[in-house]
Amino acid sequence: MPAPARDADPVRRLAGAVAAMDLVDLTHPLAAGMPVWPGHPHFCQTVVASLARGDASGFHALALGEHTGTHFDAPAHFIPAGRPINEVPVGHFLGRMVTLPARDLAPDSVVEPATLHAWEAAHGPIAAGDAVFFHFGWDRFWDADPAAFLAGWPGLSRAASEFLVARGVRIVGSDCLSIDRFGSTDYAAHRTLLGAGVLIGENFARLGALPPVCYLAALPLPIAGGSGAPLRALALVARAGAGKPVRQSRAGP
Ligand SMILES: [Zn+2]
Repeated sequence: MPAPARDADPVRRLAGAVAAMDLVDLTHPLAAGMPVWPGHPHFCQTVVASLARGDASGFHALALGEHTGTHFDAPAHFIPAGRPINEVPVGHFLGRMVTLPARDLAPDSVVEPATLHAWEAAHGPIAAGDAVFFHFGWDRFWDADPAAFLAGWPGLSRAASEFLVARGVRIVGSDCLSIDRFGSTDYAAHRTLLGAGVLIGENFARLGALPPVCYLAALPLPIAGGSGAPLRALALVARAGAGKPVRQSRAGP
């Protein structure tokens, strides 16, 4: 039997399409001293066995929270009968991503629907199934000033959250510690989004490197009953011209 033509082989087509795109790592490395929500456990990595001290192999033990580092919140985080992260179908973690620049927002303030309307007027409608991320520029504090990272961050209003739920999006996220602004006591964005089965992405990195539309692959650990989970997130970005080097993970926003 003759081999199928290259264009008829979906795996080769996919591999070719991915190879023709820039890859942007949207994940903060898991490391001691990284910022965490006050009261949540700090990331802790301890040597169990070590090549340097003569053990046959080397490895660490880890301690961390479900919301440590770059992660998703699952509905179970705020909704009593909500899905835990391990019960979210894996297809939920792949798909189109739109990124809205929101660096000019004042600390402690919230995105309102006007920002979403303006983005749609410029780039077309936010579609059902999209992942929608807000680049507040907050990841610039992650390494440089963890105390600044942990206070004053902006978020999403209830009305903006309801707008995105009405659009049928599957994920909403930002580069801040929470999708609700610093000091929120009603967690309106969390309750609105998670109540509609929309995952929340928090502590994402390098959103400022993304164009308005790209493709997101963000895979959380399948923690049984987990209220959320750390993940590795990769954006696939269409390359303007051929032959540009692949952008690798690097420090800083
Ligand atoms: Zn969280």
